[in-house]
Amino acid sequence: MSDDGWTLTYDRYDPAAQGLREALCAVGNGFTVTRGAFPWATAGDTHYPGTYLAGGYNRLVTRVADRDVVNEDLVNLPDWSALRLRIDGGPWLDLDACEVREFRQSLDLRGGVLCVTARVRDGDGRDSTLTARRFVHMEYPHLMAQSLSLEAHGWSGTVEIDSPLDGRIVNAGVRRYADLASRHLEPVETLAWRRDGCDADDEGGEPILCLVTRFVQSRLRIGQAARTRLYRDGAPLADAGSRVETPVDGLIRQVFTVAMAPGAPVTVEKVAALHTGRDAAISEPGLAAREAVACAPCMADLEATHRRAWDRLWRRCDIDANGDARTQMILRLHIFHLLQTLSPNTIDLDVGTPARGWHGEAYRGHVFWDELFILPFLHLRLPAIAKAMLRYRHHRLGAARRAARAAGFRGAMFPWQSGSDGREESQVVHLNPKSGRWVPDNTWLQRHVSLAVAYNAWSHYVTTGDRAFLESRGAELILEVTRFFASLTHFNDDRGRYEIHGVMGPDEYHDAYPDSESPGLNNNAYTNVFTAWLMTTAGRLLAELDPETRGDLCAKLQITPEECDRWDDIGHRLFVPFHDDGILSQFEGYEHLQEFDWEGYRERYGDIHRLDRILEAEGDSANRYKLSKQADALMLFYLFPERELEALLDRLGYRFGPEQWRRTVDYYLARTSHGSTLSYLVHTWVMARSHPDRAWDLFRTALESDISDIQGGTTAEGIHLGAMAGTVDLVQRCFTGMSEQDGTLVFDPVMPGHLKDIALRVRFREKWLHVALGGGCLTLSAADDWTTPLTVVVRQQQATLTAGEVRAFSLQDDAAERRPS
Ligand code: BGC
Repeated sequence: MSDDGWTLTYDRYDPAAQGLREALCAVGNGFTVTRGAFPWATAGDTHYPGTYLAGGYNRLVTRVADRDVVNEDLVNLPDWSALRLRIDGGPWLDLDACEVREFRQSLDLRGGVLCVTARVRDGDGRDSTLTARRFVHMEYPHLMAQSLSLEAHGWSGTVEIDSPLDGRIVNAGVRRYADLASRHLEPVETLAWRRDGCDADDEGGEPILCLVTRFVQSRLRIGQAARTRLYRDGAPLADAGSRVETPVDGLIRQVFTVAMAPGAPVTVEKVAALHTGRDAAISEPGLAAREAVACAPCMADLEATHRRAWDRLWRRCDIDANGDARTQMILRLHIFHLLQTLSPNTIDLDVGTPARGWHGEAYRGHVFWDELFILPFLHLRLPAIAKAMLRYRHHRLGAARRAARAAGFRGAMFPWQSGSDGREESQVVHLNPKSGRWVPDNTWLQRHVSLAVAYNAWSHYVTTGDRAFLESRGAELILEVTRFFASLTHFNDDRGRYEIHGVMGPDEYHDAYPDSESPGLNNNAYTNVFTAWLMTTAGRLLAELDPETRGDLCAKLQITPEECDRWDDIGHRLFVPFHDDGILSQFEGYEHLQEFDWEGYRERYGDIHRLDRILEAEGDSANRYKLSKQADALMLFYLFPERELEALLDRLGYRFGPEQWRRTVDYYLARTSHGSTLSYLVHTWVMARSHPDRAWDLFRTALESDISDIQGGTTAEGIHLGAMAGTVDLVQRCFTGMSEQDGTLVFDPVMPGHLKDIALRVRFREKWLHVALGGGCLTLSAADDWTTPLTVVVRQQQATLTAGEVRAFSLQDDAAERRPS
């Protein structure tokens, strides 16, 4: 699949895998993403062209299961990338109607360019080679380019080339949503425009197609423009007949007619632009788009600047994982898609971290808790992007406060699924495709999403040292979430402890007690221990602020000393459930559920990732059994280093030693179906710390989540950004054992078997540090520009690094070896 660690390659056309490849070969720039559909493809069962805007949502109402269901969706925009060809008036060329004799599709991860070459024999026996290239510009976020070449082998004829901007698009990328309203776009304006006066190279007053559409509910205006040029053997083709067809229903097309002969390939280049009504420094999106296209240089020049922008990103973001070529390539693929979803172009957009990228319509482009797995990579390399993600949450603090109040609580309660304005976007019913039934969806009870928001804000601060962020936004986020969780707890006099009732943990297979009328569970261990952490962190945060800032913030939020005392008390007396034998209980009562017949179900169904659907279709319920969709209690071992977790539980008055920890890991690992791709990465992390010999296989599975579509068809609907970024973070923080402790950087590496060396760069508190792990040694190299030293601890060996210094730490005998820089 990859020869050099930088290319995702397919050497055979496989219509059945096309949806998956379209998601994996999507190209984007953090502002917009275009799926890797062929430029000649039309939407149907095999192909699904799609272009999405970061945060491009629209809300529609559908009558489903006797109620009005409101969904806010990520909108598939008018298609800019289409280019179609037909020979001598025959059918439009389509791989599915041809004999495909040679095929190669390659995604160049280093340069962000998708290329497809196919040699085909069409229905009339003509032999041709088609070559398509596409990129979405990483430096100029509003520009994108697509080319298509045709080479005739032994035939001559007249070729018609169609270059449209097509606004007749509906959302149809997820089959389970087929019954839901899907027409989000309405046409506003179509025109062919000729520029007058622009500095860029001018190949002569060509028409620029322009299409303006609008989202029907959010009224967002989308302006798109495209310029199409023809070349033969690299030279502009002057004799091509071109006409712009009269626009209809949001479709505008430019059609060329050209004479083809063997040995003289013709190339069409389409440069397009996308602007929206939200863009800065524009008058109107249609005008901005056509001016952007008019002033754009040729595709080759655009590609050169695009590649340079990717070079700059890779210098910060690459991770060298030597020893396993496939692992290396997949890690880069994951970093690539992360940067296509969230890039420097995203910083000013007021968008959050979409669980499925901007690569498809699954989960409607919504923002869940997945940023917990995604932001660590960004905190340590591109902190401005991570900060923008937290700013998205901060901008929605008003909505979160209103939601808390409406539910009878205080502080800020963030929604489980968030979109444009921060209201709860979770579905109230969802379709079980196995049974065909619409069933209640209670996943919004996952209050832990707010804990993740607070944790991310705090992690951003401790990793970057950005006090201005903490003072302006971070502290407010953390304190308002603390207040919410404090109001969610109540004191149980019988136990003498605080408790949290009526919530769900990350395991979505349990939303209620068996036979209970109302949803929600009591004392989810993850939620409770995490809440205890938050109560303590809020105190630490207030102590960290200077007196004036603290005073202002407490006055603004009306935080009293009594409220702080209550937070502290909760942090010491929250209830945590344990089984009788000392295993941490996922929630109170889990111990009394029935054991599940794992073997029987595996035999009967094969793929049992989605046991919730299987059991519901059988008329049963996952709520009755000891089974988990994904890591829940074990999330605690993922988030908190062992010493911190022990301290947290200790503060709560619980002893939890290494033996209990290992038994808890074994217990849940045996009862988890991994129905979420997040599950494998959490388990890899936990196993690397508890059973290192068993971590590699889980890591490999986590890596294969999307590239091999291990959930059986879900990746085609959008990548799993949490799993992608999370696997990279496994290398970055889990295998190196890197964590922050009171301002020092601590390393406790666990290198899994098949990797020989790891090399990466991180930026901790404004200091770039090169980290190399391999050969029984951890080498840290400080960048030359440090102005202050940094204390590091590598397996108990403490050292103070200064600018330009390189230190190798032996991992065998724990002796530090000093080398001159
Ligand atoms: C998982 C959630 C996750 C969501 C979006 C679900 O399947 O259970 O934990 O947040 O997908 O990735």
